[in-house]
Amino acid sequence: MKYDRLRHDMVEKQIEARGIADPDVLKAMRKVPRHLFVSEALMDQAYSDYPLPIGEQQTISQPFIVAEMTQALQLSPGDRVLEIGTGSGYQAAILAQIAFRVYTIERIHSLYVRARKLFDQLGYHTIVTRYSDGTSGWKDESPFDAIIVTAGAPEVPQYLVNQLAVGGRMVIPVGDQYAQDLIKLVRDEKGLHQTNLGGCRFVKLVGEHGWSDQ
Ligand code: SAH
Repeated sequence: MKYDRLRHDMVEKQIEARGIADPDVLKAMRKVPRHLFVSEALMDQAYSDYPLPIGEQQTISQPFIVAEMTQALQLSPGDRVLEIGTGSGYQAAILAQIAFRVYTIERIHSLYVRARKLFDQLGYHTIVTRYSDGTSGWKDESPFDAIIVTAGAPEVPQYLVNQLAVGGRMVIPVGDQYAQDLIKLVRDEKGLHQTNLGGCRFVKLVGEHGWSDQ
């Protein structure tokens, strides 16, 4: 009950008030119990306006950025979505409220295992998980209608772009280790169209086509 109230407040004051208007996104954010995606000690802060640590030096993104990225993907109910960077699993759970199927990849084993368990407990059966380096995408399941990268990349990995369907949308933070721009790419018959949605700050995308492990 307490968390329901906090969650509705979060959507009203942090998400709607800042211009997110897609009804599917607002509905998803009102529904998914974000407090279950953080450790017990942080549950009371789960609906606050900032990212939180999830262990392994990684973070669950600020609620607004989750909403902004989800809206930018312009999801339809039939869409198949690829997420790189499962982390807590919260973003994947939001995507799964709207899309047909979510394929999510995590490179840190303990986070992968924890998210998988949580998806099973909460009955999110349309989320398919994988433990690997996501910078090469998920070729066997491509092409995807939408691709979301929830870690900051030095550049847009071409491997991922190649797995985007015609008509597909991709969002990815691109920049250095300290600050990035949220880039949206749309593929149509003519090629790729890029827009910049503004500044953001994510942990590093580490992998063969991302940052090195140092
Ligand atoms: N979407 C997550 C955000 C997690 S932070 C959430 O809702 O909680 C980013 C995550 O990306 C981290 O868990 C990190 O380990 C993961 N990551 C970084 N590089 C990766 C790569 N190459 N492949 C898969 N996951 C990666």
